[in-house]
Amino acid sequence: MPKPGELTFVAPRAAKKPPRHLADLSPAERKEAVAALGEKPFRAKQLSQHYFARYTTDPADWTDIPAARREGLRDALVPELMSVVRHLSCDDDTTRKTLWRLFDGTLVESVLMRYPDRVTMCISSQAGCGMNCPFCATGQAGLTRNLSTAEIVHQIVEGMRALRDGEVPGGPARLSNIVFMGMGEPLANYNRVLGAIRRLTDPEPDGLGLSQRGITVSTVGLVPAINRLADEGLKCRLAVSLHAPDDELRDELVPVNTRWKVREVLDAAWGYAERSGRRVSIEYALIRDINDQAWRADLLGRLLKGNRVHVNLIPLNPTPGSKWTASRPEDERAFVAALEAHGVPVTVRDTRGQEIEGACGQLAAAER
Ligand code: SAH
Repeated sequence: MPKPGELTFVAPRAAKKPPRHLADLSPAERKEAVAALGEKPFRAKQLSQHYFARYTTDPADWTDIPAARREGLRDALVPELMSVVRHLSCDDDTTRKTLWRLFDGTLVESVLMRYPDRVTMCISSQAGCGMNCPFCATGQAGLTRNLSTAEIVHQIVEGMRALRDGEVPGGPARLSNIVFMGMGEPLANYNRVLGAIRRLTDPEPDGLGLSQRGITVSTVGLVPAINRLADEGLKCRLAVSLHAPDDELRDELVPVNTRWKVREVLDAAWGYAERSGRRVSIEYALIRDINDQAWRADLLGRLLKGNRVHVNLIPLNPTPGSKWTASRPEDERAFVAALEAHGVPVTVRDTRGQEIEGACGQLAAAER
């Protein structure tokens, strides 16, 4: 520690920002950006068409733009954001997890899950996470940095391209659902996540033309940010990672609970449900003898009943070295029955992708 009055030199942190990309910009900002390069404003629309409607970032495919201009536009507006470290597949290749390396070497993950009736992608909003939940692999490593809007969007663009090009068995398909349940706390990277939601849902070619109703934003329960999200007037679904109905246990499992209590988080969630017209999803990882007791199921049912809600029970996917494990089948069944007794809709999440360390930051953790 420097003594009072002592001069200290603090080297400026070499925090390089992710390269600016088309997907960081609103349609109006894209026009300004191409104008600044001495191009006609309509080039913005052409680039948007290539990126958001055709998923191509290769200047060789941009045949409506003079060849001499393509490289300059690519460098300024469609730079490479990430490269594939590896793909891992399971479930007959209908679940595919991708580990990405970003421009500064940071690693993040996304997962594509194909079901008979829908295709879901689980994406990351931050590299690492600062929320420190003890059962979550990402939480153990801490926060590295926020992803840019384009770094969030590009995970989806790549997934949609892979689906279109038939890289996932079952023939060409279109993406139906997006869940912000990869690495990071989306509401702690609010502006960039909101920008990503706009890019995902703006009609082609301004954006990808996906439905807001197919997007789920999952949060530990940052109350002011939930209220702010409600004010945006979106039709996205909110998921709240509750994991315990009582503050004593939730303080431990979801440490941000020491700041915003169960009661406050649920009140904010009901506000969001009201404004969006969507049922809130309550995420609850069942952990053997920790949060799966009959009295906790009953308390949860009493807190939730009568609200626009759906409970998603997730059998705990133990992180390496974890002292915790998933609930016994009979306790899981009793938990479901207790919620149903209160008339609360509940499903147990399928546990796809376990053998590819599909859960929550485990692949990036293994790489490190
Ligand atoms: N930070 C956000 C989104 C990322 S995690 C959030 O907490 O909601 C997505 C979901 O996976 C959360 O409900 C999280 O609590 C849960 N999760 C994390 N680690 C898990 C594990 N080991 N087993 C089961 N679910 C886990």
